Amino acid sequence: MSDIIKILPSDVSNKIAAGEVVQRPSSVLKELIENSIDANSTRIQIIIKDAGKNLIQVIDNGKGMSRNDMHLSFTKHATSKINKIEDIFSIRSMGFRGEALAAIASVSMVEMESIYDNQNGHFIEINGGVLLSEKDSNIQEGTSIKIKNIFYNVPARRNFLKSDFVELRHILDVFHRLAISHPEIEFSFINNEEEIFYLKEESLNKRIISIFGEKIRENLIPINESTQIANISGFVLKPEFSKKSRSNQFVFVNNRFIKSQFISHSISASFEGLLNDGYHPGYFLFIEIDPTKIDVNVHPNKTEIKFDDDQNLYSIINSLVKHSLGIYQVSPVLDFDKDPSMDISYNQVKSQPTNPTIEINSEFNPFKVFKDEKVSKIINDDMAPDYKLNIEDDNNQALKIFQILNKFIVSTNKSSLIIINQNLAHQRILYESFLKSIFENSVNSQKLVFPIELTLTKKQLLLFNKIIDEFKSIGFDIIVKNELMLIESIPFGIEKNNVEEVIENILNEEFNVSNNFSSADFFAKRLSKITSIKSGQKLNMDEQEYIVNHLFSCKEPNLSPDNKQIFITLNKNDIENKFNG
Ligand code: ADP
Ligand code: MG
Repeated sequence: MSDIIKILPSDVSNKIAAGEVVQRPSSVLKELIENSIDANSTRIQIIIKDAGKNLIQVIDNGKGMSRNDMHLSFTKHATSKINKIEDIFSIRSMGFRGEALAAIASVSMVEMESIYDNQNGHFIEINGGVLLSEKDSNIQEGTSIKIKNIFYNVPARRNFLKSDFVELRHILDVFHRLAISHPEIEFSFINNEEEIFYLKEESLNKRIISIFGEKIRENLIPINESTQIANISGFVLKPEFSKKSRSNQFVFVNNRFIKSQFISHSISASFEGLLNDGYHPGYFLFIEIDPTKIDVNVHPNKTEIKFDDDQNLYSIINSLVKHSLGIYQVSPVLDFDKDPSMDISYNQVKSQPTNPTIEINSEFNPFKVFKDEKVSKIINDDMAPDYKLNIEDDNNQALKIFQILNKFIVSTNKSSLIIINQNLAHQRILYESFLKSIFENSVNSQKLVFPIELTLTKKQLLLFNKIIDEFKSIGFDIIVKNELMLIESIPFGIEKNNVEEVIENILNEEFNVSNNFSSADFFAKRLSKITSIKSGQKLNMDEQEYIVNHLFSCKEPNLSPDNKQIFITLNKNDIENKFNG
């Protein structure tokens, strides 16, 4: 019998490794920028074409590579960053596995130019991991690397890439994280020939403002504390700047972006009582910790991390954030050199944020039945004492309904009890009505007397430009001037106060209009989700009736737009079985 175990050829094993390192263009960009940072660059230029699908180029002024090192850098486990096993545990550089370039090269077309010391510059070209050509180069400093046609030789992966909108968003996320953690480096970012970011060397707070816009400036609350376990610094954002998405949450450990549920939880807990439901705090938190006290290798992409002393770290971060928020409550004008005697403990100054005001429109609008004013006026009569289940009671014509747990509407029909999830039911009602107006081309726009002005971040603007036509098709009338968005009309059914949230929410979504997924459907789903009444909202009789009546006139009353079951029924047998069983 012949042996059946074979050692995989290196091109095959590199392709397998590529699956781990290279998930999409943004993961390539991350590896390349990290290499430039490790090479002590002070200036990094990024050039992207077609959301990175056709070109990702990184040019740096770092220490560069010799001709030999250029070749070696593409072989697996080739790294200049580890000499002995102990290095793995104390390493502080960005990448340390020595396989990124090998993996990237195996699934793309690479051109690299580099110059080291006073040697001659060199150029190499590698396709699918195979050296194609090399020659002298007149590059003057550092390294330039081009990754073209990612996954050209793995069509299944190439086809799997998402729309430019989604891939670009991942790319910008990666860029933001690295630019924030390296304000000492000058960055330029060119997308499809247009320079989107030019960030000069600056301080951390200036860097955050350069990326997120002027609006964030007065919302930054500084944090700074040295403890035995770790040094913690950075900024939290004032509660007013909280968002429905978690897009403003950044945690860096030893200057490397990570995701950590327990750190997010610890910070969110500090904000308790200061945020409206469904809002998430924003923060830029830097934790400096002894590298031997953490395990960064729990996740192949190294964005997750384990801490030896997580309990203590949790409490430290929690009280630190509370403390900073407390100071801000008494001194709303941010003073970076404030007098410490002004400190007041968090509990003494805790206050509720005010709810946003809501406009009242006297004209009837079915979508506006659920406005907060109405809900707040609810009398506590929704559990009327004389309520009887009218199962099999044909004489009782009046529809008996009531709400339980501020979440479900209970109703009956001839022989069953129906329990309806109010949020999902309302989503279904709105979804069908949005779809109807889009498809019947009866998009009802309301022209605003006072246009809404929104300042967008560059990232939002970039993404928005990709889907501006879709926004128009559902009744938005929007003009964009520089970073200012002027909204002149909005679709009927959307509250003015919801507009900012609607736009942000859509920009944060996995917006991917493929053949079988129309933009109309996408928008109808998102809009119905955002504008629907939520669980936890108390409803008066009119509102409950509205839900029940309209739900059952829908084409598909059983399922929410995301295919969740909207209601359950208990028929006579079910109920009797409960007693007999
Ligand atoms: P790692 O970064 O984990 O060492 P990589 O595959 O990313 O592995 O890179 C391999 C080696 O190539 C690095 O260790 C470094 O010596 C060299 N290298 C890669 N990119 C650059 C660059 N931009 N400037 C200088 N050296 C680089
Ligand atoms: Mg690397």
